[in-house]
Amino acid sequence: MRIEILGSGVSGLCCAHAFVERGCEVTVISASDALDSTCCSWWAGGMLAPGCEGENTEPLIASLGAESMAFWQSIAPDYATAGTLVVATSRDQPLLNNFARNTQGWQTIEGEQMAGLEPDLAERFNKGLLFSDEAHLDPRQTLNQLIDDLKNSGVKFEQGQIDDSPGNDYSSSELASDVDWVIDCRGLGARHHLTDLRGVKGEMLHIHSRDIHLSRPVRLLHPRIPLYIVPRANGVFMIGATMIESTERKHASVRSVLELLSAAYALHPAFGEAEILEIGVEARPAFTDNLPRLRRRGKTLSVNGMYRHGFLAAPAMARRCVAFALDGIIPTEVMDENTA
Ligand SMILES: Cc1cc2nc3c(=O)[nH]c(=O)nc-3n(C[C@H](O)[C@H](O)[C@H](O)COP(=O)(O)OP(=O)(O)OC[C@H]3O[C@@H](n4cnc5c(N)ncnc54)[C@H](O)[C@@H]3O)c2cc1C
Repeated sequence: MRIEILGSGVSGLCCAHAFVERGCEVTVISASDALDSTCCSWWAGGMLAPGCEGENTEPLIASLGAESMAFWQSIAPDYATAGTLVVATSRDQPLLNNFARNTQGWQTIEGEQMAGLEPDLAERFNKGLLFSDEAHLDPRQTLNQLIDDLKNSGVKFEQGQIDDSPGNDYSSSELASDVDWVIDCRGLGARHHLTDLRGVKGEMLHIHSRDIHLSRPVRLLHPRIPLYIVPRANGVFMIGATMIESTERKHASVRSVLELLSAAYALHPAFGEAEILEIGVEARPAFTDNLPRLRRRGKTLSVNGMYRHGFLAAPAMARRCVAFALDGIIPTEVMDENTA
């Protein structure tokens, strides 16, 4: 079977992997150069945190997450299973209690345990919640590795901008005439085609510090600026991320950057001396309920609406997409349109 995938973010690449595994001939067409800073996936934290995300998402995300984590563990070069630590300043302890009430899969960490787990935080935080089943990865390293694997498996990558003007149907164009399925993974790039898709702007930073060491993602609860910090290799940390109802994806605001940096400084003053390597901004593709969807219109299957769960959900969504396209299995939990 011939499959054309539009988009080379985490959704498109996971779909390419799932189709090629079933022996399909796969071409990926993307406006970006395979993977670059114009994709939402480029800016992600790479947290695989179904427990923490359970605070304000449906259980569906946790079940998609469990499947996806098994996938990433098998292919991601730096998949780390150190869990997630959630902390709050002494003034914000009620937030920690609320977080505990609204989530599952944590254990309380106190005093000496904190010193053993994250020595650099023990002086300021003597209580936290450890979600030990959670993991993280480096999105750029992982997706570049996936692209290399796909190329070695015969997947073709082409650069091309698909016209998304309202009313334009790519799948019935000449370009798509000899393919069996078009898998549309363009994220927000498909918003004229999927009119209920919206953007949720996220601003983030990469900073570098040799003065602080963290072994796992840390979430700092705060009434206005909840923050997470994900450690990468060589003293680099990803600080994220704002959540703003907007499709604007070019400029981070002064206020957002100030707030993210102040929160990092509150987590540990050594972040005050860190070097800012990069300020990033993107908009997450999301439907109104923030859950991912598989939609069929003719021979186009859209995999979209990954919101803040692209890495957590894309491998599981890709499996459902392939099971539908090749075996006719309808994934009722994520499919809300099936128009032949
Ligand atoms: C700051 C931030 C932090 C995040 N942290 C996490 C996290 O820790 N864990 C997690 O699971 N998720 C996280 N997310 C969410 C995750 O990044 C997204 O859900 C995910 O990247 C969406 O992937 P996608 O492949 O659907 O879209 P994208 O990554 O945006 O990919 C879309 C692709 O389509 C292409 N395209 C678009 N329009 C066209 C066109 N007209 N023609 C051809 N090609 C086109 C683009 O070039 C790109 O290749 C985060 C998001 C942000 C912004």
